[in-house]
Amino acid sequence: MSAYEFIDHKFDVVVVGAGGSGLRAALGCAEAGLKTACVTKVFPTRSHTVAAQGGISASLGNMGEDDWRWQMYDTVKWSVWLGDQDDIEYLTRNAPAAVYELEHWGVPFSRTPDGRIYQRAFGGMTRNFGEAPIQRTCAAADRTGHAMLHTMYGQALSKEVEFFIEYFALDLIMEDGVCMGVTAWKLDDGTLHRFQAQKTVLATGGYGRAFLSCTGAHTCTGDGGGMALRAGLPLQDMEFVQFHPTGIFPAGCLITEGARGEGGYLTNSEGERFMERYAPSVKDLAPRDMVSRAMTIEIREGRGVGPNKDHIHLHLDHLDPKMLAERLPGISETSKVFAGVDVTKAPIPVLPTVHYNMGGLQTNYHGEVVTKTGKNADAVVPGLMAVGEAACVSVHGANRLGSNSLIDLVVFGRAVGLRCAEQLTPGATQPELKAAMTDGHMARFDRFRNASGPRPTADLRLEMQKAMQEEAAVFRTGESLKSGVERMAAVVAARKDIGISDRSLIWNSDLMETLELDNLIGQAVVTVNGALNRTESRGAHAREDFPNRDDDQWMKHTLAWFNDATGKVKIDYRPVHSYTMSSDIAYIEPKARVY
Ligand SMILES: Cc1cc2nc3c(=O)[nH]c(=O)nc-3n(C[C@H](O)[C@H](O)[C@H](O)COP(=O)(O)OP(=O)(O)OC[C@H]3O[C@@H](n4cnc5c(N)ncnc54)[C@H](O)[C@@H]3O)c2cc1C
Repeated sequence: MSAYEFIDHKFDVVVVGAGGSGLRAALGCAEAGLKTACVTKVFPTRSHTVAAQGGISASLGNMGEDDWRWQMYDTVKWSVWLGDQDDIEYLTRNAPAAVYELEHWGVPFSRTPDGRIYQRAFGGMTRNFGEAPIQRTCAAADRTGHAMLHTMYGQALSKEVEFFIEYFALDLIMEDGVCMGVTAWKLDDGTLHRFQAQKTVLATGGYGRAFLSCTGAHTCTGDGGGMALRAGLPLQDMEFVQFHPTGIFPAGCLITEGARGEGGYLTNSEGERFMERYAPSVKDLAPRDMVSRAMTIEIREGRGVGPNKDHIHLHLDHLDPKMLAERLPGISETSKVFAGVDVTKAPIPVLPTVHYNMGGLQTNYHGEVVTKTGKNADAVVPGLMAVGEAACVSVHGANRLGSNSLIDLVVFGRAVGLRCAEQLTPGATQPELKAAMTDGHMARFDRFRNASGPRPTADLRLEMQKAMQEEAAVFRTGESLKSGVERMAAVVAARKDIGISDRSLIWNSDLMETLELDNLIGQAVVTVNGALNRTESRGAHAREDFPNRDDDQWMKHTLAWFNDATGKVKIDYRPVHSYTMSSDIAYIEPKARVY
C-alpha cells in the first residue's frame, strides 16, 4: 500500500499532452460529445509545437498543380521504404482537408496575392513523382506552429475540453494489458491524481533531450515513451533520429529549412556551394539526412568554416531584405540573438543538430497503439492511443520530410477523435481502480523523491547526453555504437546513485527533472541498442561500416523493449506495410474557404 493519496477523476478520454497533436485529438473527442481531459506539464501554448517554424505540408496546389499521390510518392521514397504505405496514404489524402480545417478555425496563414494559402518549397517535396521541386509547405511566415497552437487552444476551450495544466503524468494505469488511465502529480500544490478513462491518448512529444545538442525544448523528454517502456510495451524504430542540417552554431537553435526553401544556400570554407556536388538536381533542398551527411563530410575533410573549421555557412544575405522581413522574421531575430548575425549582411554559422525522433509508440492510422503479440504484429493495446512525435505510425520511416510532422499531428489527431467517437459511449461505466495498479508508480516516485546518492541529476543527464551525442551521431560505426551501449548501461546502473536535494512536493523541479531523466534514459538505451543492431544504412541511420541499404535483411521495423529492473533490451521486428489503404478510410473532401 502506498502512503500517497490520490484525487480521482473520471473521463471518457484523457489526452496527455497539449501540443499540436494533443490539442487536435482532444478537440475531436470533445466535439463528439465525449468528456475529455487534457493533462499537460506545461501551459498548452508553451508546448514544443509553438517553436515549429517552416510550415505544414499538404497538396493544396496553390502555387501550381499538385496531387496527394505525388506527396505520397515523396513520403514513401524518403522514408526509404520503411514508412507504412497505408498510413502514408491516409496522411497525404487527408492533408488538404486538415489544413483547410485549421484555416477555418482561424490559423493566420501567409497568403498569395490572390488570397490563397501561401506554400513554400521544402526538402524532398516534388512534382509528378520526383520530376522537380514543388511548393507544398503551407506557412504562417516562419511561425506556423505558433499560429496553429494558439488557434487550436482557443478552439479546444470553446469545445469544452477540460485542461489540467502543470500536471506531470507519471505512469500508465494498466491491468492485464489494458490501459485504464494515467497517474499524475500536480506541480503547484503537490497533490497526486488518478485520471481514469476509456481511452488514454499519449501526445507527449519527442525525446530530443537525450542528446546534448538539439533543437527541441527542454521539455522534450519523451515522457510518454518512458511510460510505455515501463508498462512493458515496445517502442518502434528508435534508431532513426533526425539531425536538422541548420542548427545555429554552437547554440543549437533551429534555422528552418524554409530558409533554404526561400532561396538560402550552404557554403564551405572555400565559398563553394557544396550541395551541388552531393545532390546536383535538388541541391540545398535535398532531404535532411543527405544535407546533414554532406555537411559532416565537408567539415571532416577540412572545409568547415570558423577558426576551428567546425561548422558551415548558411547564406540568406543575397535575398531581398523585404522578403526576409515578411517571410522569415523569426529566424532573422534568432540569428541576431544567438549568433550576432544580421542575415541581410552575413552568413549564419550552422551545424547539424538533433531535431526529430522518427521512432515512438507503434500505432495504426486510427491512432491506436499496437504491439506484437505472438504472430500478430499489429495487436491493438486496448484503451491506449498515441499521436504526434511520441507515436510512430509509421509515416516517416527512416527519415521525416520537413513539414510532414505538423501535418502528421493534425491528420492523426483528428483520426483519434474519429476513432473515439466511433468506439466509445459517453459516460460508459468503467471498472473500479485498485491500489495495486498504481503501487508501482508511487514506489518509483517515492524512490526518486528520497534519492540521497552522491550524483546530482544534472550530472547524470550530461553523461547520457554526451554518450548519445558522441556515439549515435550523424555517422555511426559498430565501434561507436558498442561504446554507446556500454556508456548507456553505465548510466542505467548509475540511476541508483542519484541524489536530489529537495524533498517537497510543491514546485520540486529537482524531482521533476529526475523523473524526466529516467524517461529519457530508457529511450536512449533502446535507441543506441537498436542502432547497433541494424547493420545497414537507411535514411537517418548512416553506418560507416555498413554503408549500403540492405532490403533483404532490413526492410522491417525494429521493436525494442526495455526491462527497467535489469536494464536489458529485447529486440524483435515487424514487417513494413507495403500495401495501400483498404476501403475503410475516413477520408474527407478538402474544401477551400470561398471568399
Ligand atoms: C524548433 C523546431 C521547429 C520545427 N519546425 C517544424 C516545421 O516547420 N514543420 C513540421 O512539420 N515540423 C516541425 N518541427 C517538428 C514538430 O514541430 C514536432 O514534431 C511537433 O510539434 C511535436 O508535437 P507534439 O504534439 O507531438 O508534441 P509537443 O508539441 O512537443 O507537445 C508535447 C506535450 O506533451 C506534454 N507532456 C509531455 N510530457 C508530459 C508529462 N509527463 N505529463 C504531462 N504532460 C506532458 C507537454 O506539456 C506538451 O503539451 C519542429 C520542431 C522543432 C523542435
